[in-house]
Amino acid sequence: MSLITGLRDLYPHLGFDDRPLAASCDDGWLGILHAFLGDADKAMAAGGTFMLQQVKEKMGGLHMHYATADVAPDARRAIDDAHRLASTRSFHVCEICGRPGRLNNFSGLWKVVCSEHADGELGTGVPFDGPFDAHNSYSPEEDPFVAARPTVAEFEAAPIIQGWLIEEQAEGGHPWLYGWFFGHPDIGEGEHGHTPPLVQMDEMMPPRWVRTDSQLYRLGICYPPAEREIRYWAQKLARRPVTYGEPPGGDNDIEAMLIFLRSTGRLRSMKIDRMELAYREEKESDARSGA
Ligand SMILES: [Zn+2]
Repeated sequence: MSLITGLRDLYPHLGFDDRPLAASCDDGWLGILHAFLGDADKAMAAGGTFMLQQVKEKMGGLHMHYATADVAPDARRAIDDAHRLASTRSFHVCEICGRPGRLNNFSGLWKVVCSEHADGELGTGVPFDGPFDAHNSYSPEEDPFVAARPTVAEFEAAPIIQGWLIEEQAEGGHPWLYGWFFGHPDIGEGEHGHTPPLVQMDEMMPPRWVRTDSQLYRLGICYPPAEREIRYWAQKLARRPVTYGEPPGGDNDIEAMLIFLRSTGRLRSMKIDRMELAYREEKESDARSGA
């Protein structure tokens, strides 16, 4: 996995040293890791210190090493229980993509994978069908954390949103997602709109799916906000529907879109100036961060 950063802000009661956390497993388990850290953070609110030292894949499952000091026994127990749950869950979640999976043997290498990733870089996996732990009554079907993840088949049948943008709502409200819709039964191809409130979102970055009460969506390409706004207006004022696979706004020439927007006379020039400035700043900060 990637290096994980920003944990200190998310989990104020946990201790991390200043380096980004290096995890030696794939990103599909990010959600499991965050669920564990959320539980540990709650347990640590009563005091003491907790230091996460290592996150790794071992014999196909997720393992974490952490040290605690001055922690009440029930808090320590809650953290150990959360760790056991995380390890158990990892045997049912694809380590590569986070969709439901099972333990497979790839010529001696054990890895939990979904049906799509059971046949790939590692070769063809042989599913493990023995019991993991006869004393553990855990059932993934009864754990919403695992059961609500989109399966490969559901994922492939889901509509896709291109050029998506998350719109946070006021305190307590679920965010929405704006974008151009494709493959939706009730929305015209390439139409721009927003989803109902989101109830679940992929933990991987960038996320590949979101769920509302009634619909799973796949997420396609996303653009930085200022670039996206220019694309939005260029597409809207050109009145050309977006076709699948074509970037909204026509192509990837943002400068040409700005010239076009000024030529239409349909937006106030102050608005276009503001969009252009925001776009230039976005490009500069991308260049600075090496993105
Ligand atoms: Zn997978």
